[in-house]
Amino acid sequence: MDAKGRSESIFRRDLTQGISILERLGIIDFNGHFSVRLDDGRILINTGSSVRSAIGPEDFVVVGPNGELSENAPAPPAELPLHVSAYHARPDVQALVHGHPRWSTLLSSAGRPYQVTMAQGALLGDVPVFPSPMSVSNSRIGNAVAGTLAGGRATLLRAHGSVVVGNDVLEAAVLSIYLELNAERQYRAATVGEPYVFSQEQILACRAGLEKRGLFEKCWSYYRAKFGLTTSD
Ligand SMILES: [Zn+2]
Repeated sequence: MDAKGRSESIFRRDLTQGISILERLGIIDFNGHFSVRLDDGRILINTGSSVRSAIGPEDFVVVGPNGELSENAPAPPAELPLHVSAYHARPDVQALVHGHPRWSTLLSSAGRPYQVTMAQGALLGDVPVFPSPMSVSNSRIGNAVAGTLAGGRATLLRAHGSVVVGNDVLEAAVLSIYLELNAERQYRAATVGEPYVFSQEQILACRAGLEKRGLFEKCWSYYRAKFGLTTSD
């Protein structure tokens, strides 16, 4: 197998694990998708028809940098333009998750801004809200979402879901988890009192302490083991 083949197979494995973790956490549902940008600029993404709760390395399709599909290839998700637009706008981004997470989406439905209510939530930075709940199924809306994301790590699509980007599959997955854990904390705290919102000083201190690759790997490893996903290496 050549180097390109090897790296694609590794990406398929990583995305399989990422989707498996995020699906079990309620972040990716039956329609969510997770992509990675390959070394040659093409995009590897789970197919539109893939069963997210039983995902495997074969459930992915490679499309061109502009979403070009080869003949007889399985169809990608209808919201592929979201990925295409984000990768065009952000050369630094190598992986993107779009889910419909319960708590983060609830906040956006209720018009409540994302606030840092747990330490790891500080790593998301500003989380702007894209104002439309409509499917990101064409380049016009894809580019608009990429504009809202701008240089950040995450955006919420109002009453729809989340978009989280990273330097690789592991980073995008873990940031997606942090976003949702923080949103759940924020929501649940608001049901019994006033959520404690971290100060700017505390946010900066959390970022300095937690923006470490080893801690991202710790979170990834924790959920892989918790969900019995460690045997597929
Ligand atoms: Zn969606």
